[in-house]
Amino acid sequence: MILVGEPLALDLLNTRWRDGDLLGSGALFRDWLAAQRDRLTPPEAEVDLDAVRLLRQAVRECVEHARAGGTPPAPALRTVNEALRHAPAHRELVWPDVLVRRGGDVTERLLAELAEAAVDLLTGPALGRVRGCAGPECSLLFLPAHPGRRWCSPALCGNRVRVARYYRRHNASAPTARPE
Ligand SMILES: [Zn+2]
Repeated sequence: MILVGEPLALDLLNTRWRDGDLLGSGALFRDWLAAQRDRLTPPEAEVDLDAVRLLRQAVRECVEHARAGGTPPAPALRTVNEALRHAPAHRELVWPDVLVRRGGDVTERLLAELAEAAVDLLTGPALGRVRGCAGPECSLLFLPAHPGRRWCSPALCGNRVRVARYYRRHNASAPTARPE
């Protein structure tokens, strides 16, 4: 699991990084879903990973355009809106509790929840604070809790960059063959 705990829509985008994809296998994606179980209804059966991938791509295009102050492309908006429409939520009174149910099949229900998270991000105040990781080959997105945060994870990119910088400095300043 490379990065979870950001707003759900960013976690969805972060399932894909430079050389990995949690949507590449059902087992990897199940781990991700398990990590999200507090805010995402666990699907009770295998979901269609291609459909999740399509939604993820649409959300990515929406987020990229919106962050740049533009309007997301119509096909991306259509994909998000279809996901919302296919599994609308309704309340059900199961005495004495009120449960939220959804229509649609198992994939449609998941897509609808992810699309709702995307809408929340795209239309909320947090969008302007979304930041891309400063790691040179990292495309992960996060919402910094403090303005100084630069890395998706200090343990991943932060450390990698610090180590690279250290070796660059060390090699540049130290003579290669110093006599003892
Ligand atoms: Zn990073």
